[in-house]
Amino acid sequence: MESSATNRQTIAENTMAAIEQSYFLRELELRREHLLSASRANTADPSLNALLASVDAALARLEHGTFGLCETCHDPIEADRLLCNPMLRFCLDHLSGDEQRALERDLTLAARIQRALLPPADWSAAGWQARYHYQPAGLVSGDYCDLIESGDAFLFLLGDVAGKGVAASMLMSHLHATFRSLAGQQLSLQRLVELANQLFCDSTTAGQYATLVVGRAWPNGKVEYVSAGHLPLLHVSAAGVCAREATGVPLGMFCGASFSVCELTLAPNDMLFLYTDGLTEIFNPSGDEYGMQRVESLAKRHFASPPEELLTACLAEMNSFSGGVKQKDDLTLLALRRVN
Ligand SMILES: [Zn+2]
Repeated sequence: MESSATNRQTIAENTMAAIEQSYFLRELELRREHLLSASRANTADPSLNALLASVDAALARLEHGTFGLCETCHDPIEADRLLCNPMLRFCLDHLSGDEQRALERDLTLAARIQRALLPPADWSAAGWQARYHYQPAGLVSGDYCDLIESGDAFLFLLGDVAGKGVAASMLMSHLHATFRSLAGQQLSLQRLVELANQLFCDSTTAGQYATLVVGRAWPNGKVEYVSAGHLPLLHVSAAGVCAREATGVPLGMFCGASFSVCELTLAPNDMLFLYTDGLTEIFNPSGDEYGMQRVESLAKRHFASPPEELLTACLAEMNSFSGGVKQKDDLTLLALRRVN
């Protein structure tokens, strides 16, 4: 006998499947109408007929229950790709040679654009020095890292968009543009994050959100920050490591969310260390997770090192912990040091 929990799960899955089915049906019918009216106006264009045939074929797959399945392996096609193009017939592993080469060209270009969004590698501002390490799991990353000077202070931002690959990298560049345009407007940190959250909510769908630390630092060591659901921010000093937990929910989850601002003061040579779960969630060959405690102890051992040495030590330790196994998640590390 099925339990009521299993029944509820089946009902929920059926409801989701029906919603997806009607979404794709609507999308395909819309494309069909546009193609028909275009071909009435332009009967000489044979490409319109080819497109119409591909829409009709997708509608037939929807009717026969094979829509969204790869025609080679019969596994589901990647959801983010299908949402962008409901006419897809093959999963990423089974593209034709031409399609694969075109995709690789697009991704290489996207990766180059994304790299250009990063701050300078040897960044410094009055009284501060920053170094970061940005490493996508694939060609493009859903991690976000930026440093923006504003007046006598500067903003530091480090975040992680849910998911990975192309969809996450597009949201990452959206976050980048949002904060870059809001940064020049003399807003309080709280207002800045609340506005960014509203803008992010307006342009994402359910399940798309980002965890993020946004901070502002001054030459005298004063720092204020908001942590929107992100992993603890570490304040590293001679006295030890203090882990500052998240102060609010991730960006993009609730449109009206408010975010409280926390403050701290860094003495000369103190450091802030920020990272994404590409660090904490690596595993060793026996299945143990790297975890927060190891991050804290690493930071503690390197409290007197320059930022680049902390990053180098961190990467070396990750490599020896994981036994050199290729990482599955995007990784970003950011070390900020008050120099004087
Ligand atoms: Zn396939």
